Amino acid sequence: MKRRNFIKNASLSGVGLAIGTSLTNCAEKAPIKNEKIIASSEKASLPLVIATWNFPNATTKAWETFQEGKSALDAVEQGCKVEEADLNNTTVGNGASPDRDGNVTLDSCIMNSKGDCGSVVYLQNITHAISVARKVMEDTPHVMLAGKGAEQFAYESGFKKEDLLTESSKKAWEEWKVKSEYKPIINIENHDTIGMLAVDKNGDICGACTTSGLAYKMAGRVGDSPIIGAGLFVDNEIGAAVATGLGEEVMKTVGSFLVVELMRQGKSPQEACEEAIKRIVSKPNSNYKNFQVGYIAVNKKGETGSYSIHKNFSMSKFQDGKNTNTQSDYFIKEEK
Ligand code: ASP
Repeated sequence: MKRRNFIKNASLSGVGLAIGTSLTNCAEKAPIKNEKIIASSEKASLPLVIATWNFPNATTKAWETFQEGKSALDAVEQGCKVEEADLNNTTVGNGASPDRDGNVTLDSCIMNSKGDCGSVVYLQNITHAISVARKVMEDTPHVMLAGKGAEQFAYESGFKKEDLLTESSKKAWEEWKVKSEYKPIINIENHDTIGMLAVDKNGDICGACTTSGLAYKMAGRVGDSPIIGAGLFVDNEIGAAVATGLGEEVMKTVGSFLVVELMRQGKSPQEACEEAIKRIVSKPNSNYKNFQVGYIAVNKKGETGSYSIHKNFSMSKFQDGKNTNTQSDYFIKEEK
């Protein structure tokens, strides 16, 4: 399953970490009323798992992990590992598209219900970046390890070195090189990042996100996916959110943190995802017609939401023993 042209013509210019720019407005809005909301109605059937895109194998694995009596953290890790190991998924783990120099580099993060988090950026030669991120969280005093240091830590933790560039991803990259003349154009079918949120039967929430980022990206480029607060955020008192799409835009609005903060102010997961997308598209210089961003979110009651700029974004859910995939509502309605 590939969603072609998910991000079109996105420019690398202006990429950066504009952390902290987008929360002023939300602080001015509604008063904090999460306690009332949480107490006000019954919880949805738990446990449940949601994921970006159509990843039934991953959500099934997460569900099975719950059935084995394991935690929400185990569920999201095991679920994400399914896609990391899938050689046909060219945007995650083994078999992922390389950067424009031919190197596969992975970004990944994980967060538990206690607010602990771990992240790896620019990790090479290791399929299960999400498990390395978990190790960073659990076995080091740090949140994030990058590049060679992350790789070295992975080997010390028992991970095996692997060549992640498959024959077919190498061939696709070589074809891309001819056409693109090495220009960093990001209009590639490269957007199957898996972000996963799980709520256990007690209502405790964990999340994970793992990706190779944009195909044929500039060497060294890191997106939102391993950045806590941008690609993923979990606040066990409120809920959690995870992003996919053009990471630069998610980082500039600290997107997942924003979604959770909007839920804290009383918005439903659906309303919060919509508002976070509106923050991106309402910027005066936003080029939003040419790129995609999608969010999914869950709150403490187990209510879920998802929203994107363009159509064709979807959310997978495993709940009550059933796997579903639902097209998300989206901002640009006039699109055919
Ligand atoms: N958000 C990812 C990134 O910008 C890409 C994606 O979701 O496909 O690296």
